[in-house]
This record gives sequence, C-alpha cells and structure tokens, in this order.
Amino acid sequence: MTTPAESAIAHPSAHTDGTPITALVIHGGAGTIGRAQLMPEREASIRAGLNRALDAGHAVLQSGGSARAAVVAAVVTLEDDPNFNAGRGAVFSHEGVNELDASIMDGHTLQAGAVAGVHRVKNPIRLARAVMERSPHVMLVGDGAETFGKSVPGIEFVDPGYFHTNERWQQLQAAKAEEAAGAASPPSAHFGTVGAVALDAHGHLAAATSTGGMTNKRWGRVGDSPIIGAGTYAIADCAVSATGWGEFFIRLNVAADICARVTYRGDSLQAAAGEVVMRRLPALGGDGGVIGIDTHGHIAMPFCTEGMYRGWIQPDGSRGTGIFADDGCHGK
Ligand code: ASP
Repeated sequence: MTTPAESAIAHPSAHTDGTPITALVIHGGAGTIGRAQLMPEREASIRAGLNRALDAGHAVLQSGGSARAAVVAAVVTLEDDPNFNAGRGAVFSHEGVNELDASIMDGHTLQAGAVAGVHRVKNPIRLARAVMERSPHVMLVGDGAETFGKSVPGIEFVDPGYFHTNERWQQLQAAKAEEAAGAASPPSAHFGTVGAVALDAHGHLAAATSTGGMTNKRWGRVGDSPIIGAGTYAIADCAVSATGWGEFFIRLNVAADICARVTYRGDSLQAAAGEVVMRRLPALGGDGGVIGIDTHGHIAMPFCTEGMYRGWIQPDGSRGTGIFADDGCHGK
C-alpha cells in the first residue's frame, strides 16, 4: 500500500496540495532574427500567433486532456498561421513546391508517428498523429503517407497552392540568386519550424514538431523535424522539440540525447539541453534551439542563434512569449 508521501513521489506532476500541474512550451523556429529587421507589426503578429497556440494547447490541458492532444492543438494553430514555416507559410523547395514534414511522440506510451514530404495535407501534425495511432508504422513519406491519410477521418486535404505565400516565394528566389552567384545561402537565415512540448494533469509528456524544412532544399531532402530522436523525442520524464539546421540535429540525435542525459545521467533538463544546444551543436558547426519539459514542469528553451520564437505557460500559470535572447529565458 502506498503512503501519501510515496504517491506524491510517484506523481511528481502535482502541487504540494495534490492538485495536478500542467505546463506547455511552444516554438516557432530559431534563426537569424534581427531586431532591426523585425517590424513592430510583424513582431506583434508573431507574438499573437504564439499566444493563440499557447491558448489552444493550454485549453486542452486545463480540461484534463492528454499531452499528445495538447501538443497537436498548439502545433495545428501554428501550422495554420502563415508567419511560421509549417503548414500554410511553409518554405519552398528548389522546385518551387512545399514539402511538409511532421512528427509526434508520446512519452507515456513511447508511441511515435511521423510524415515527410507531404504536399496536400493541411495539417501534417494531424497525419503524424494518425500514423502513431492508426497505423502499425512510425514514419510514412510522400504519396504513400497521403494515401494513408485519405483513409483517416479528420485529415483535411487542400490544393498545394494553399501553402503558398509570397514572402516564402521571394525567399526562394533570393536563395536561388545567391546560389547562382556562388554563395551558399546561410542555413541559419531559414527559420519558422514549429513545435510544442506538454505536461498533462496525469503527469504524462508529449512532443510534436512540424516544418516546411529549409528553403531551396532539393532531392527529397528531409531534415530532423520528422526524425524521432533528432527533432522530436519524448519519454516518461523528458520531452523535446527542436528547430535549426536539421542535418546537425540528425547527426547529434539532439532530442534523444537531451532526454538520455536526463534519464541516465540524472542531469537536470536545463543542464542537458544547454550542453547539447549551446556546446555540442555549435562545436559541430550547426545551430538552432530546442524546447523541453520534464515531469515536474521544469522547462528549457536554449538556442544558439540570434533568436527563437517561443512561448510558455509554467505550472504556476505564469506565461510569456520571447523572440530575442534577452527577452525571456534564453538558455533556461
Ligand atoms: N529543422 C528544420 C529542418 O532542418 C528547419 C528549421 O527548424 O528551421 O528541416
């Protein structure tokens, strides 16, 4: 028989009075986000988008919903917002198409789902969840993923033109012009991938990530975002979603490495995320950031780029959004 003290230890996601705690962190991508270039209206629109996503995820958690449902609700909101490089507003490939990637992992069940290179699915994160819940697989790509999606109720298909925004089109033209002039476009200039991590009232964690990838990508390039372990990972006591130069995140298996440090070494989430993002990633030549959460509702949001769009609601209800390094919890 467990004593009240033991059950408090068994359920670390409770306040001392026994009421369950919840927490949510989201990101809208890391990269070169210059204060001077970010117009006030644009900044306000981005912060409003982050707040809408926080509200959507938080509403799920407040009503006792699961962490997996909360991260999907938050990411869907960001996919629908053209400010971010996911869903509508995704970047263009070299061929001028939007190829979308997404993944989700449930830390309680260790189930995971991912899709890569889809063109017509309005909310790729919903399809990733369907792969997790309704297929025997973890990852589906391209046409096959879309064929599977047609059999799933609630997966909305759109004309590929739905994803097109003029701003992303211009970014592709600029990247191609730079390429033609012999300069490789700096990967850190591309940002806007979205993600969420959540702790629900049952003490369970989940992580989700969705992206259009990198501008001017070609040859069916797939980054870290749909790779379980690299861009998204969740286990019982740690959940992480990443954004940045995907090739480096894959090579360092960033999200899983952070969680392994927490689980096997007993590192705090902050220390583990800081070590991987602020030291190992730049040492290899990569850049980007992550958001992470543990079962106590501790959060981490380190990034080694100029900025990372991010938002958080902590167990005590305090919330905020940040863009630059000096406006909230950089390296925390
Ligand atoms: N990680 C994404 C990718 O490499 C891009 C990003 O986060 O901006 O596809």
